[in-house]
Amino acid sequence: MADYVHIFDTTLRDGEQSPGCSMNVAEKLQVARMLDELGVDVIEAGFPAASEGDFESVKSVGELGLNATICGLSRTRRGDIEAVARSLDTARQKRLHVFIATSPIHREYKLKMSKQQIIDEMTSAVAFGQQWFDDIEITAEDAGRTEIDYLVEYFQAAIDAGASVLNVPDTVGYVTPSESRKLYQHLSENLQNAESVILSCHNHNDLGLAVANSLGAIEGGARQVECTINGIGERAGNCSLEEVVMALRTRSDRYQLETGIDTTRLYPASRVVTAVTGSRVQPNKAIVGRNAFAHEAGIHQDGILKHAETYEIMKPETVGVPENSLVLGKHSGRHAFNDRLQTLGFSVSKEQLEDLFVKFKALADRKKSVYDEDIEALVLGTEQTGPWHLDAISIHTEVEDTDQSAEASLKLRFDGQAPRIHTGRGDGPVNAIVNAIRAIISEELHMEEFQVSAVSGGSDAQGRAMVRATIGASRYQGTGVSTDIVEASAQAMVSIMNRHHQHQGKDLSAERIAAAV
Ligand code: MN
Repeated sequence: MADYVHIFDTTLRDGEQSPGCSMNVAEKLQVARMLDELGVDVIEAGFPAASEGDFESVKSVGELGLNATICGLSRTRRGDIEAVARSLDTARQKRLHVFIATSPIHREYKLKMSKQQIIDEMTSAVAFGQQWFDDIEITAEDAGRTEIDYLVEYFQAAIDAGASVLNVPDTVGYVTPSESRKLYQHLSENLQNAESVILSCHNHNDLGLAVANSLGAIEGGARQVECTINGIGERAGNCSLEEVVMALRTRSDRYQLETGIDTTRLYPASRVVTAVTGSRVQPNKAIVGRNAFAHEAGIHQDGILKHAETYEIMKPETVGVPENSLVLGKHSGRHAFNDRLQTLGFSVSKEQLEDLFVKFKALADRKKSVYDEDIEALVLGTEQTGPWHLDAISIHTEVEDTDQSAEASLKLRFDGQAPRIHTGRGDGPVNAIVNAIRAIISEELHMEEFQVSAVSGGSDAQGRAMVRATIGASRYQGTGVSTDIVEASAQAMVSIMNRHHQHQGKDLSAERIAAAV
């Protein structure tokens, strides 16, 4: 299909690798369902061999029965390939994604292998993977610094071995759009049977060029774009899905290419990822930023009122920006609530809906108006999977000129154990909460950032606490939402404890390798 560009979303793999964006299994499932509704062709769900936790989350995504192809990342070693095969056992459509580095510096120092040895390693991985997979993607890690003739030789061997997708990552975000176009043209022209495979691009945004380079690659013949929602990813991030999709659509006069994306789900998708990761997009972010469709200048407003196309190249409704935000209250029924959940990009099971509706009613009793942001917080608040749970919190402060004037008592429950009270003292409630938690964790906890903000407008708004902290050598971000900001702060700290707990079994060496693609 020459007129179709496949959208390969790697929010759950490459996106999740960015600091503070790690997601638990429940959050990954929420994102995966949203991506499927959005219409992405491939969901890269993770790197199963990296850890037990990664394996479980890829497996859970595979079990959702989605329409999208579910993909698992792998090194060339057999154990990795077997892990992908086992984790995607039940997926309706599955893909194996194998990477190995091809550049001289990697060949010489990291792999200590010759050009031919690397090709042999890759082709035997394809042959081994074919026991389970018809669909195999091959990545040449550090392709940008690989000799072009060797890259052709490497990818020719992949085609001959039966690979279906060839991916050429610009891992360090160094190339320019015209270089990118020339590279793909060269590959298209010099590979035999290139029409039997899909050329794929994977661009990073270190120079702000990830989307431009992806469009360059498409002009040169790439027909798969690897990207993430909101462009999340390490450092400056990955190619932004919403931007590349809307560029192709808005400039279809130039590209004449289609994607399978339902663009009216782009804005909800962005909101879900923002809510899950706690990582907000800048207001002037293209397509999904708060100001992306706001026209302040008088002359613009006048033009828009007379005829929208004078200053708008896209309509807000095309990308799913809601025309007005519907406010729910305690008289809103189950149906209206479920409708709003779907509009916001969430799909929940019947049981989850019942559970959420009870919580929604309780919230509507406490505050008059329930806004979209409240509903997002409600959904994601119930996704706290433990093992730590905050059952109750009490704070005692004294108006005293000491640095230990506040005491926090946290009633915490660890899965399968009776709740216990943990206390800490500090110069204020939040400091006391952090000290209570420090006493539980054996490693050093260092607070890097702490913010409290209102979830929505109104003086009865809920408070959202966002905490960034390092525990040992790892950095985490946690959020908590409550009508009580002290409770929200405690929830955010408990969320950090849970993320740390889930992170502990991970094989760090494997994570470092994953980070390089
Ligand atoms: Mn990457």
